Amino acid sequence: MSGIIRGEGEGKVVVRVRSAHPYTAELTAEQLRTLAEVARRYGSRVVHTTPRQAVEIPDVPEHLAEKAVAELEKTGLVAGASGRLTRNVFACSRWCLYNAIPVAEPAEELNRRYGDEEMPAKLTISLSGCSFSCSRSRTSDIGAIARTVIRVEREKCIKCGLCVNEPLGCQADALRVSKDEPVVWSRDKCVQCGFCSNICPVSSITAAERGFDIYIGGGGGFFPREAVLLKEFVAEDRVVEEVSRVVERYRELAEPGERLYSVIERVGVKEFE
Ligand code: SF4
Ligand code: SF4
Ligand code: SF4
Repeated sequence: MSGIIRGEGEGKVVVRVRSAHPYTAELTAEQLRTLAEVARRYGSRVVHTTPRQAVEIPDVPEHLAEKAVAELEKTGLVAGASGRLTRNVFACSRWCLYNAIPVAEPAEELNRRYGDEEMPAKLTISLSGCSFSCSRSRTSDIGAIARTVIRVEREKCIKCGLCVNEPLGCQADALRVSKDEPVVWSRDKCVQCGFCSNICPVSSITAAERGFDIYIGGGGGFFPREAVLLKEFVAEDRVVEEVSRVVERYRELAEPGERLYSVIERVGVKEFE
């Protein structure tokens, strides 16, 4: 059964849990209560969160695992994200102030589409709400990173300093403001995170354009691989479809057990596309 992983100790398993709604990194109070109850009743009263935002309940006796999973399912939690299935879609918090484009909803939709689908091999999908890429979109099989191209209207600037001073100021050193001079933007330094457009109180900086860059073929592990850029500036309402197209193409081309990065190495990005 997917999501039931051999654990430490004789006859013990780890139950790996994800949620399709809300997606796993957001659990409702009811789901948290269920997790606590299952960990108390079947496990050793602890849970562990994985680096990809799934939750694991360790120390469950193997013969009770199915019962534990049935209890989890009552609040929309499912065992999964192991073996040749898609891993839980890894995504930024919708409450992060930096979000150029919030990614929780696309993550939820992708979890619904692919959470229980068999793949040729493990498949990781990560969505980042801005170019900081906290969700490690460049070391996942498929990554989407939101970008914002800003527009600067200097005449509106009130020289408040918010976009340049700590703690919220531009981290790429792409903006300058002084008491004598309104904001100056260095395009060449800008990493298009869009944060300044989220915080400017007078809309002197706004978002001119938003979209996602789609990366493929990244991976972690013993031999980390940096993903390659497949498509630039995909419209925000197209990101789920674009990621889905990559998933379907991977299924079409991969040999059993072959990770996406190996497919790319074998056929090349052009042919993959
Ligand atoms: S990638 Fe950007 S939006 Fe996502 S958590 Fe990091 S800073 Fe926030
Ligand atoms: S946050 Fe806006 S108003 Fe304040 S210094 Fe920056 S551009 Fe000017
Ligand atoms: S100037 Fe560019 S890098 Fe700096 S905060 Fe704005 S969008 Fe981000």
